[in-house]
Amino acid sequence: MTVRERIPFSELTTFKTGGPARYLADCESENDVREALAFARARRLPYVVIGDGSNLLASDEGYEGVVIRMRIGGISFSPKDADAVLMEAGAGVPWETAVEEAALRGLWGIENMAGIPGTVGAAPVQNIGAYGTELETSFVYADVLDADTDTVARLAKEDCGFGYRESRFKRERNLIILSVALLLSPTGAPQTSYSDLARLYEAGEPLATPGEIGNAVRRVRAGKFPDLRQSGTAGSFFKNPIVSEDAYAALVVRYGDIPRYPAAGGVKIPLAFVLDRALGLKGHRQGAVHLFGNQPLVIVADDDARTRDIDALANEIAKRVHDATGIAIEREVRSIP
Ligand code: NAP
Repeated sequence: MTVRERIPFSELTTFKTGGPARYLADCESENDVREALAFARARRLPYVVIGDGSNLLASDEGYEGVVIRMRIGGISFSPKDADAVLMEAGAGVPWETAVEEAALRGLWGIENMAGIPGTVGAAPVQNIGAYGTELETSFVYADVLDADTDTVARLAKEDCGFGYRESRFKRERNLIILSVALLLSPTGAPQTSYSDLARLYEAGEPLATPGEIGNAVRRVRAGKFPDLRQSGTAGSFFKNPIVSEDAYAALVVRYGDIPRYPAAGGVKIPLAFVLDRALGLKGHRQGAVHLFGNQPLVIVADDDARTRDIDALANEIAKRVHDATGIAIEREVRSIP
């Protein structure tokens, strides 16, 4: 384990904002993570686990604790039967690497989640999903270090409390994911139910293999989301809300037809639609931050923006949505501390 001091969060997050982390521990093994936890305990400091920092908003004041940056690598594939291959990957493997390695072997299951930033270990935390596929569908288990008890357990899908962009890992921060196992299949079919992919399919785009689907998804995403390497952003900032049937009916009376999708507990509506059509907030700028023109769910920060500017815009957006629709929107992006 290597520990460095006073590393600015602007170097650790894709928003490229935030003050110094008191200590940064890069951890390449379970043992490194244990050492980092012991390091924090010995100094009576809190700790926080991060991956690639692509879903994080770090305070301008920084963090007086130990930032454990997950760097555990390794990826393996074990055939289970003619239809199933178990992929096991270290929590620090980039999610894109996992998607590419699966596609190289012609394995189906995660291709629609191509292009999602972040690490394999972060994927179960918010049960990432895109274009009709969610992590939980292929998820088999995660090996998890419980920092409170210093024990490692293998958690099966039913132990993880998965929901829409939800899991128990969001609430129980003592559970540190070390590796993840997914069940993929050499036999599969393109899942093109989402309109962005359906359009490509109808236009005759080659979408016959996991690799072709992955590339198509990356192209669609490139047209909608800013490039994290160039812009300060964390992708979608808010979750798409799930509202009751009555609330949905009231919105339609007020704002006309709004797309609706079935979801556990109600009706899922695209927040981007509400921000754009109902509130006219597409491209809305407040100081050094703005809502991305192609996708208003995304906040983009200028080079000189600070975390407090992003917070202020996000709070303003949440207030406007609440005032206009009564919906209390939730952030997808996590704040530190
Ligand atoms: P989009 O495709 O315009 O979809 C907007 C909303 O409508 C989402 O809530 C989406 O549900 C829903 N939706 C669209 N078509 C649907 C269908 N055929 N069946 C059921 N629900 C449908 O959204 P976008 O912002 O451009 O994002 C594209 C995809 O990437 C979406 O699936 C989005 O969830 C995903 N994404 C995921 C993350 C993440 O995991 N952190 C971040 C950014 C974007 P779903 O959200 O359930 O797909």
